[in-house]
Amino acid sequence: MAFRSHGTNTLIIVKNNSIIMPFVVTHMLVPMILIDIFRDNILKIKKSKLSNKYILIAGLAGLLPDIDIPLSIFFPTLFAHRTITHTVWVPLTFLFLFSVFHFIRKRNWSMIFLMCFIGTAIHITLDVVTAGSIQLFYPISKTLFAVYLIPAGSVIFVYSAMDAVLLWIWFFRKMVFGKGIEDVI
Ligand SMILES: [Zn+2]
Repeated sequence: MAFRSHGTNTLIIVKNNSIIMPFVVTHMLVPMILIDIFRDNILKIKKSKLSNKYILIAGLAGLLPDIDIPLSIFFPTLFAHRTITHTVWVPLTFLFLFSVFHFIRKRNWSMIFLMCFIGTAIHITLDVVTAGSIQLFYPISKTLFAVYLIPAGSVIFVYSAMDAVLLWIWFFRKMVFGKGIEDVI
């Protein structure tokens, strides 16, 4: 475990400081599985109230922050990886839009923005917890945040295992409860 300072800013580093991200499958499946379980097992509401279309949107939003990877190729000065698209401002913007559309009773758009809030918030949380340092409040603050839960040297193995376990959960739910990715797509 290490603790470093970055200029005048605080940097929280645990165990190592490599920058690797969870795989695409993880970023997409985590919000989809969590919302699916929340809908069916906690809220216990019908699919007509929270349809699979919205769960798919949350999964796609889970990929959204990493759009800075292709964008950084074409606009390297504007979109360095893990800068503006990996800040709290992204999910907060979606939360604000959700509030606005909820207030004016546009349910479809409010649900879309709520799913975008959940997907992007989970992406950034996953990156902070498992995959290196992030400037959560960029460009206002360049303080870096990171919690390295995965031991250095086993990152690729753990990410592969995460993807495998998530896919297993997904297909297990399909086999046992009749729910799965086919319901969404
Ligand atoms: Zn990311």
